[in-house]
Amino acid sequence: MILGALEAGGTKMVCAIGDETGKIFEQVSVPTQTPEVTMPTMIEFFKKKKLDALGIACFGPVELDRKSPVYGHITTTPKLAWRDFDIVGSFQKALGCPIGFDTDVNGSVLGEVTFGQAKGKKCVLYLTIGTGVGAGIYIEGKLLHGMLHPEAGHVLVTKKSDDSYAGKCPYHKNCLEGLAAGPAIEERWGEKAVNLAGRQEVWDLEADYIAQALVGYILTLSPEMIILGGGVMHQEQLFPLIRQKVTDLLNGYVQTEEVADMEHYIVPASLQDAQGIMGCLELARREKEGV
Ligand code: ADP
Ligand code: ZN
Repeated sequence: MILGALEAGGTKMVCAIGDETGKIFEQVSVPTQTPEVTMPTMIEFFKKKKLDALGIACFGPVELDRKSPVYGHITTTPKLAWRDFDIVGSFQKALGCPIGFDTDVNGSVLGEVTFGQAKGKKCVLYLTIGTGVGAGIYIEGKLLHGMLHPEAGHVLVTKKSDDSYAGKCPYHKNCLEGLAAGPAIEERWGEKAVNLAGRQEVWDLEADYIAQALVGYILTLSPEMIILGGGVMHQEQLFPLIRQKVTDLLNGYVQTEEVADMEHYIVPASLQDAQGIMGCLELARREKEGV
């Protein structure tokens, strides 16, 4: 099969050609401008390739309900040029092939369960902590959509008493994204996150908020593995801190092999940042084969 993959992000669009085994033959990155500018460039890239299907993992919010008249649209995004844009319909019209569509983070979790360390697992959570916080959830062998799609980056956490930072989310005073995404770290400490690597208190607080959210996800979804990605998780010292805090917060309540082996339970992404684009190949294959 010749499959197209599009990881549609707010800053760049990664377009690739590959196959159902996860092999990528060709890949380009196009800066995200307006649909008028960016769409023709991407269509041009895919059009010559005679795709069997295209898979798109897209920044959101997006409409995933196939019964909705606006299925395949990007909906209430703050990126105004893309608001209400029919991304699936536009590619369908131009390429005439089946198009798989999901959120960017669902693309990443799908890449990990199909080609990466989570292969064979049925319930996996992928959390990205970067400019925002988002979760892709694979549950009982399917990507979770529900009424919209998970927005688990905005779960509320208990603010630490010594944290005087107001939070960055315009909707919530104390959600995970507002207190712990890259921009919140930078605003709270007045320094680029990457330059704060040596400041223990920064990562202690960060791990605290992330651990609180993870405990909520563990208790609700019972994932077999939690994968943490995104720019902020390049700070590898976060992993042992998060694992310890999750263990402390669970306080022995959940007794499973997975939770007992935290080093293999809460882990970094395994596909060298290709989990998203490889997930798009699988989205395409699933659409083509109707699975
Ligand atoms: P995006 O979320 O836009 O796709 P990233 O996942 O790279 O992109 O996230 C960008 C955010 O991650 C920035 O806010 C930045 O502060 C933070 N970040 C990027 N690299 C690092 C790093 N090495 N250490 C800590 N934070 C980082
Ligand atoms: Zn929020």
